[in-house]
Amino acid sequence: MAITAPVAVGSRPFDPQNELSDNVRTRFFIDGQWLPPAGNDRFTLISPVTEDETMSVPAGAPQDMEAAVAAARRAFDTGPWPRLTPLERAEHLRRIADEIDRRLELFQRAWIGQVGAPQWFVGAISGAAAHHFRYYADLAATYPFEEERTPTMGRLKVLREPVGVAALIIPWNAPLVLLTQKVAAALAAGCTVVAKPSPETPLDALILAECVEAAGLPPGVVNVVPAGREVGNMLISDARIDKVSFTGSTDAGRHIATVCADRLARVGLELGGKSASILCDDADIGSWLQSLAPFTMPFSGQICFSQTRVLVPRSRHDEFLDAYVAAVESLKLGDPWDAETQVGPVSMARQRDRVLDYIEIGRGEGARVVTGGGRASGFNRGYFIAPTIFDRVDNSMRIAREEIFGPVVSVISYGSDEEAIAIANDSDFGLSGSVYSADVARAEAVARRVRTGHISINGFNLDAVAPFGGFKKSGIGRESGPEGLAGFLETKSMFLPA
Ligand code: NAD
Repeated sequence: MAITAPVAVGSRPFDPQNELSDNVRTRFFIDGQWLPPAGNDRFTLISPVTEDETMSVPAGAPQDMEAAVAAARRAFDTGPWPRLTPLERAEHLRRIADEIDRRLELFQRAWIGQVGAPQWFVGAISGAAAHHFRYYADLAATYPFEEERTPTMGRLKVLREPVGVAALIIPWNAPLVLLTQKVAAALAAGCTVVAKPSPETPLDALILAECVEAAGLPPGVVNVVPAGREVGNMLISDARIDKVSFTGSTDAGRHIATVCADRLARVGLELGGKSASILCDDADIGSWLQSLAPFTMPFSGQICFSQTRVLVPRSRHDEFLDAYVAAVESLKLGDPWDAETQVGPVSMARQRDRVLDYIEIGRGEGARVVTGGGRASGFNRGYFIAPTIFDRVDNSMRIAREEIFGPVVSVISYGSDEEAIAIANDSDFGLSGSVYSADVARAEAVARRVRTGHISINGFNLDAVAPFGGFKKSGIGRESGPEGLAGFLETKSMFLPA
């Protein structure tokens, strides 16, 4: 993934009243129609920059979710979508991608406006949304949805069919990209879906519904109801939902897995991380700083793959720490609407409180704050936290074991490659990681032994063809690539007479 130039979203703050359609501001997308909410509850969106309310939108009530699940079930059981050929579905996916491109600036502005993501990060990531649809449209042409095998007797066709109705639940940090990754794969498989965005970021999924509508998908194939946990619980418990695909915290994932296990529903979980970046003793610190340091705390560390444990050889510790601290202290903190800003605020008051608590926990555990360590100076409002580096961190400390989800990085010293691998693997999580060495073969040997679902050597990369997901408590299953499509399929063996 390249760090691209800032996006052309302008510097004027998001103006939901004038930038969003009436439908997105006031309705839900259910059964191909924009329906008014059944209840009166609302979600209030707060600007992380000003702490002012920016807008409020309707919150999904049980009746709204009931209507969405019924529509998705009907569309799956009796509608045309699952019965279209993969290539016919691919045409729809391409049309959705075109509609996303048309609205890309709006999506980007909504992302920045809702949670304060900085423009460089939005620019680097948001192009993936349309790409997910084009990737799965292309894959549909070659994927073995059906193959013949030679059994001992008769003939055998192995069919890969859509799993059914999928509930897609996403968090607030990167809502467009995380949702499109799921929706594109589910639709390519022939599933119908109910998408539940989080209360903090309801807009992206609703704008995506406008794309789906403009692309002419049959009613009920995609339904969108922003809702909180209670109504979300209804969704995961509903027997009409065949598969729950969840991205979010490990705690919520554990609960969702338990509910799904009870009714033997399929479940995919993309959860938290505590990823390690290992610098071998021959690593070029300059290239690490340039290519990876931004991913130690991208979007103020509120990204699952943040490389939050930096493992440095004891022999080069001081040299590394001086360079890393200087690089972090040179980052420009500020308003995400300013294109020069590299680090914006954290997204909400509860994030600010959580991160500040962890900084105190780190201090209490005996780790040393070498830069940052509290609220950022120079801001009299907004949830700004100074990018924080802890040195002298022992891997047994809570700041090294728990996901902080903020701009806080732990530097951990080690003696040998063997010890670095052991520290990287001494974690409940197993999501991402990186290894830096002048010798790529050495880095690869280390990377092969790190137990994570994603790892990069001498850089950082993500791609639609690359399966993404976690070992251990970072999740179950994979998204992206053919593996992401497989997550929305069931396999059927059909025997025929010879
Ligand atoms: P969260 O778990 O609090 O919420 C995520 C979503 O799940 C929200 O839409 C929420 O409303 C919903 N939810 C929570 N409990 C539910 C329930 N019982 N039933 C139905 N829905 C429920 O997480 P968050 O704070 O929004 O997001 C941050 C977390 O997401 C971090 O832990 C981060 O690592 C993780 N994340 C993981 C990935 C990945 O790909 N592995 C990507 C992004 C974020």
